[in-house]
This record gives sequence, structure tokens and C-alpha cells, in this order.
Amino acid sequence: MRALMESYIGRIPQDQRVASVRRAWQELWWRTSRYLQKDDIMQMGEAFVYAAESHGAQKRHNDDPFIVHTLGAASALSDMQLDVQTLIAALLHDVIEDTDITPDALGARFGNDVLTLVDGVTKLGRLPFKNVEEYQAENLRKMFLVMAKDIRVVLIKLADRLHNMSTITGHKREKQISIANETLEIYAPLAHRLGIYHIKRELEDMSFKVIDPEAYYDIRRRMRKKLPESELVIKKGMEILREKLAEEGVHADILGRPKHYYSIYEKMNRKNLSLDQIYDLLALRVIVGSLAECYQVLGIVHTLWKPIPGQFDDYIANPKGNMYQSLHSTVVGPEGDPLEIQIRTWEMHSIAEYGIAAHWQYKEKKGKSHGTMSGLDKKLAWIRQALEGQGESAEPAEFLDNLKTDVLTTEVFVFTPQGKVISAPNGSTPIDFAYAVHTEIGHKCVGSMVNGRIVPMDYTLQNGDIVRILTSPQGKPSRDWLKIAKANRTRNKIRSYFRQIDRAERGDKIDRGRELLDHEIQRRYPNEGRTIDSFTHLLSRVASDLGINGVEDLLVSIGSAHHTTSGVMSRAESLMARDDEAAASPKAAAKAVKESDSAVVVEGADGVLVSLSLCCCPVPGDKVTGCVTQSRGITVHRYDCPNLEKMSDDRKVAVTWGRMKEIRYTARIRVEANDRVGVFADLGAAIGQTDGSIVNIRGTVNGVRTRFVIEMLVWDLEHLYRIIARINLIKGIIEIMRA
Ligand code: MN
Repeated sequence: MRALMESYIGRIPQDQRVASVRRAWQELWWRTSRYLQKDDIMQMGEAFVYAAESHGAQKRHNDDPFIVHTLGAASALSDMQLDVQTLIAALLHDVIEDTDITPDALGARFGNDVLTLVDGVTKLGRLPFKNVEEYQAENLRKMFLVMAKDIRVVLIKLADRLHNMSTITGHKREKQISIANETLEIYAPLAHRLGIYHIKRELEDMSFKVIDPEAYYDIRRRMRKKLPESELVIKKGMEILREKLAEEGVHADILGRPKHYYSIYEKMNRKNLSLDQIYDLLALRVIVGSLAECYQVLGIVHTLWKPIPGQFDDYIANPKGNMYQSLHSTVVGPEGDPLEIQIRTWEMHSIAEYGIAAHWQYKEKKGKSHGTMSGLDKKLAWIRQALEGQGESAEPAEFLDNLKTDVLTTEVFVFTPQGKVISAPNGSTPIDFAYAVHTEIGHKCVGSMVNGRIVPMDYTLQNGDIVRILTSPQGKPSRDWLKIAKANRTRNKIRSYFRQIDRAERGDKIDRGRELLDHEIQRRYPNEGRTIDSFTHLLSRVASDLGINGVEDLLVSIGSAHHTTSGVMSRAESLMARDDEAAASPKAAAKAVKESDSAVVVEGADGVLVSLSLCCCPVPGDKVTGCVTQSRGITVHRYDCPNLEKMSDDRKVAVTWGRMKEIRYTARIRVEANDRVGVFADLGAAIGQTDGSIVNIRGTVNGVRTRFVIEMLVWDLEHLYRIIARINLIKGIIEIMRA
């Protein structure tokens, strides 16, 4: 094999047979020989020779032969164990752009697959680096369109960028910064989106070093300074954990975690923390064979070290959008420092590092794959099936074909006029886009333009559309949008808007209903100082007669003109009359109604019309005060009735209870009880046993408690107290009050 490898070096132009080319070729050869068939590797050798001949004497800015660049890109892809077509395309990715080779010639020599890939990258390669902002939208649009056709194009583009970044120092400072910015804004997020973390990390760190070298070296220096002690902690943690896992019979690999300076920098900036305050500087990674072992290890970790609250994430049960899975927990480590532990299977590890490219790798290594992908969403479960369903002979192209139709087409990528990429579920409309940009933009949306043309709100967004949302300060969501919006997150935002509106509207209706009803009460009982509150118990009965859920809803109903105030008050009054009838003992009903008025004696004013107030329901024995009204004589309130306080003193008269009669009086009590089955029956029994008779009983459940409002007929205050004492013996009673 070594001789074979050398033979290709012998075939490239003489002036390119230098150490840097030889090294790059050896590296690629060595990596591919671990997973590719000999035939494939030889095809790749042909592409290497072809590329070297085509680029001829072209040099990189650091004076290396140009071929070093394409070898580097191919090498990065072979690290992800991509198929031979991808590697060939990577070796040839600049020939159409930078040499005289025509697409036809390339297609004839290496086939249409390779041509498509090279063509895809070539278009992308023409990204103008100057005025990036101006052209970003258009170029990204192209890139995503190509990506939707063949994901490998983007992988080649990422590998290309990775090599360019690693040799960036040859450029002028200005150009370096421009390239690094573009990398940070576009390519690192793209790698993240595809779940290829190792490329994302490298791109970010290399860009960070270019853009802010001071901060980069500062973080690196300080981390290195901390390194000896951190390594000690990590080593100690590893030892303890390894021993414990062995004890429990769990086979696991424990690794340190690669340092990623840019993420530390970002975190310091975002959370305004110093390096010492960042928790996950100390981190361990535990990699196990099965999903069950992940949780087993988590349990073991949490018994060894105390978990820090709020620092646990289960990305196995809830994978990230880019397929990432792991358990993350930060614990108080062996030296009392926070220690982050990530737990995953090998398969999850591979997906975490290589993202979408890992699916490829697992297909190729079919049979060696272990662990499960349960917990991934349906789309990805399908990938698993595709992996398992295909025999060794299955075409990789078929797999990728399915990948692109099933995975990548579930989302569309569209752009703001400024070139910002917005991803949305397939079938999304401008409404989804507006809310994805910003909730307020969504709320104020009045129309939209796609690619410069006005479109209807239910227009289906296409990959690469440039969408401009038209807003107006007067704009507001329409309930129809709930049908138009595709994304759940959009619908949730619209719903929450309407919930808020509805709540405010309900408040307005309650106020309006209250005002109308109060007006009606004042009309019917002028100058009696009656308020809605003094009718509460009657109103709640009216509500329940009308099939309405409580007084508040009754007010809403009045406020929105579903019920009239006069209708409601008439019902209340007829209930009042019925109560009075019931208050009379059956055998002397007629007499009682007549005589009940004189149950209370007004001092020095016999024969005045006297009635007992309904708001506080006084019974003989209560300390009472009378209140002069214009049309209903004197009403009698308990002396502590809140309604009395609102009345002027000149309307108050002293009253006392007269001789006892054979009638019973309505008393109202409120009972708070723990919500227990049987409480209701016990209340009825208790009142019955003490000779009370229930007129009305209403229970409302409030959490674990039930509040009963009981209206009953009693002889006098002493009788009422006897009943209360008896109720007090019931299990679960918390409080009993006169209402
Ligand atoms: Mn290139």
C-alpha cells in the first residue's frame, strides 16, 4: 500500500513533489485506508493527480502548492469518514473556478455526481468577501438551495473553510478579519445547525483568534495557568468515578473535554462573568455502551457528588434540534469545585461531534454500531430505519437522497432583507416568519413581500425566499392567523396575545356589568345603601339558575348584554320572597309572614315596617342596628355589618329583638374544610342533628380546600352557636364564620 501511495506522488508534476504536499497526501491516504476499499482509494488517487496537474504552478498565499489546500479539505472530510465521491469532489473543488478545466470535461472524467458537487461548491466559492452584508442574502440563498439538493456540498464547503481558516495568516490583516467574521456569522452556525460540533469549535476558535487576538490569548493564558490545578481535580474525579463504575460493573470510557476558548469568551460576555465564575471549565465526559447505562451512570455520579440545582439537562429525552444527545449535570466535584459531567453513548458521541455526517459513518460501519437512538424525533428514527434496512450493497446516494428529502426538507431557510437566515418548518407562511423574527413584528404585521412582490398571508415560503414583513403601529393579530400559521411556536404566540386581550376584555365587561347592576339596585332600593355585595348570595343563586358559573360570570354576562339587569334583579327578588316563605314554619306560614316584621321592636316607634337585612342575616340574639329607608321602612342589620358603616348616622336607629315567636330565621355561615369525600354529607347530618334546616348550600373547591356557604333556618343566635359547635367536630373543618 505504501508503494501504491508513493506512486501517485511520482505522477504529479515535479515542482509539486515537496514536503508539504507529501505530508498532506500521506495523511489523507492513511485516514481513508481505515475505511475505504482499495478501488475507491485508487480513484481518489486519480483525482489527486488530476487536480495537481490542473492547478499546475498555482500557489497558496503562504507559498505552498495549491494542491495542499484541496488535500487538506479532503482530509477533514475523511476524518468524518465520508464517501469517496465527496473526497474526490473535495480534491477537485477549485478546478472549475481556478483552472481552465470545463464542467463537461470534469463530468466526463469523474461522473455527474462529482460534477454536481464541485459545481455546487464553485458557485458558493464566488462569495464576494467585500460588502459581505450587501451580498450575503443572495449568496446564502444559493447555498441553501444547493444544500437542500445535496448535503455533501455543504460538508465540502465547511472543509474548504476549515482549511482556509487554518492557513489564514498569509492574508492581510483586513482580509483576515473579513473572512473570520464571515466564518463566525455563517459557517460556524451552519456547522452547529448540522450538528458538526468539532468543525464548529475549530471554526470559532480560529475566527476568535483573528478577530480579537488579545482576548483569545488572554483566555488561553489564564486557562493554561489554571491547568495544573484543574487537571489535578479532573484526574482525581476520573479516578474516583472509574473506581465506582467498576464496582458497579459499568464499562465506560472517561475522557476530559476539549477546551473551546470561544465558547468561554461568549459565556463570559453573555453572562458578564469572570473566568473563575464559569462552571464548565472543569468537565468530564463519560461514554458508555447503552442508553440505560447513561442513566445508571448519572445515578452513580449523583450519589458520589452533590448535583448543583438547575444545572441538569436531559438532552437524551429531549434531543437538541441538531440531533445532539447527552446528559449534562454539574456537580460539586471532589475538591468542592463545580464539575460538569456529560454522559452519552458512543453513537451519541459520534453524532455530537460529526452531526449529520455521523449518520453516514454509522451506515458505513453497519453492524459495529451500538446504542440506540430512541428519543430522537420521528425524522431521525426514520434515518435509523434507513440505516438498518439497507444492505451492504445499498447505494450511499440512496441514503443521502432520503436524508435530503426527509430531513432537510422538513425545514425551509428564508432570509430577512438584511440577509439574516430564518429557519421555519416546511409549509410555513409569512406569519410564521414575522413571529420568528420578533414577536412584536408578528403582532404588528399587516402584510408581506416575498422577493419584492406582495404575497397573500397564507403564501407558503420556499427555500431561499427573501421575506419583508410590512408592519403598522395599528396592526394587530387576527384569529384567522391561527389557521394560517404552521409552526406551533407561532400559534402559541398568537394564542397568548388573545388570552391577554380576552383577559383585559373580561375585566372591562365585569366592570361594566357591575356598574349596570349597581345602577339597577340603586333604582330599586334608593337610599338604602345597598350594594351588589349585599346581594351576593342571591346573585350566585340567580347565576346558578341561569346556568352561569358564579357571580363574576353573571357580571360578564350583564356587561356583554346577554342578560339585563332588571331580569337579574327580578329573579333575585323572587328568590328573596321564596326564602321569606320558607322562613315561616309550615303550620303558621301565613301568620309568620305577617308577624315576622314585628319580630324586631323599634324603640319608640311601634308599627313601623321592619325587615331583616339580607346582607348580614341577623338572627334573634345578634346585636342589631336599624336603618331608615325611604320605601321599605326600617331594615335591621347586625351592628357589625359592613354595609352599615357606609350609611350616615342620622339614618341609624336603635332596635331590639321583640318577643320570641314560633318562626325561624335565615342565618348564613361560611365553612372552610379540607377537600375530603364525605364532608358534604357530614355537614348536612350535623345541621340536621342540631335541628337546623338547610335552605341552600354551595361548595366551591379551591385547591385542596372546599369553601361551603350554607344558608339555614335557625331559631336564634344560641341555636346557631349550637349548630356551629357541632359542625366544628367534623373532621377536616378548618374555619367556620358568619358570612
Ligand atoms: Mn477552496
